[in-house]
Amino acid sequence: MSSPTPAAEPPPSDPAGARPAPPAAPDDPAADRGPGDPGPAPSLPADAPLTEAPVTVPAERRRPRASVVVLAVLLAVAVVAGGLGFFWVVTQLQEARRLIGDQQQQITDQQRRLDEQQEMIDRKEQFGTAMNDLYATIEPLVGLPYATIVPWYRVEDLADRAWIHRRNPAALDQDVVDVQRLTSEISSRSDGVSAQAASNASGTAWEATLDDLGRGWVSTVFEGATPCGATALACVSGAQPFTVHVRADSQTDPTMTDWIRTGAAYHEYAHVLQFTNPQPTDDALASFGGDAETMADCYALTFLDGWSLDHEVAIDAYSYYEVTVGYGYTCDAGQRQVIRDWVGQLGVTRQVVGG
Ligand SMILES: [Zn+2]
Repeated sequence: MSSPTPAAEPPPSDPAGARPAPPAAPDDPAADRGPGDPGPAPSLPADAPLTEAPVTVPAERRRPRASVVVLAVLLAVAVVAGGLGFFWVVTQLQEARRLIGDQQQQITDQQRRLDEQQEMIDRKEQFGTAMNDLYATIEPLVGLPYATIVPWYRVEDLADRAWIHRRNPAALDQDVVDVQRLTSEISSRSDGVSAQAASNASGTAWEATLDDLGRGWVSTVFEGATPCGATALACVSGAQPFTVHVRADSQTDPTMTDWIRTGAAYHEYAHVLQFTNPQPTDDALASFGGDAETMADCYALTFLDGWSLDHEVAIDAYSYYEVTVGYGYTCDAGQRQVIRDWVGQLGVTRQVVGG
């Protein structure tokens, strides 16, 4: 028998009387074991057969189940995040491509508009140059008494069309061609008429008078037949307003004198003025009952001093021809003033179009 040792009183805080487990020794592997943990495998002797080694699972590989789940979740989140990121990048790339495409289209559109504007500027400059050429061709004609040689209504029409076509390069291109054509027409007609007028040199009173009155624009053509009918000495047609047709036998007719030829040339020149100035002529004709012939006679009576329609042409010292030139009516002072006013309005004037 051993002597009893007094039992240590349990601490007041342990009503069940359970003793606290003694602190585990630092090198006691059992201290870290869980309830089902068999602990580390016992070491085998070096010569123990391998087949007898107990199969155990290392404690470190069975412990972090929660970590695996967390890792899996993190991986899933990473995959989803990566997918979303990839989708975002793709979307951004597409948006960037769309923006670049839009900008390229805008640049293309702007360049196209610039090209169109440049084309319009070029066409407008071409039209301006063509109009300047036209005006340069017209300028020497200003003051000539033949209004029709410069058809201002056509110039006005071209200017109006160019304004309408100011945003239409193709149409403006055509307008440039039309202006150039009009310039060429005016120029060639002027040159042609002047050249023809300069080429005839008959040395007659007819031609001398018409050259003087016509300022080099009127041609005198002698014809053997009767180009103006059976009775007329001379005539002018609207188709060729600058050509005076004269019966050739008027040069040898004994009833004719150079004075009569001169007065007759004045009458014919009045017809040149009538055909080349239709609007003021229409107004003046009202004072002559619409008769262009008595109006032409009145022109000669007004501007050729001493002229009359009735003449006595001497045959010899004792006899003479009574010759009547014209259409039998001698205009009065009021009609002669109409003729002066008419002549004052004739011819090519300088005009501004498109204003
Ligand atoms: Zn006549």
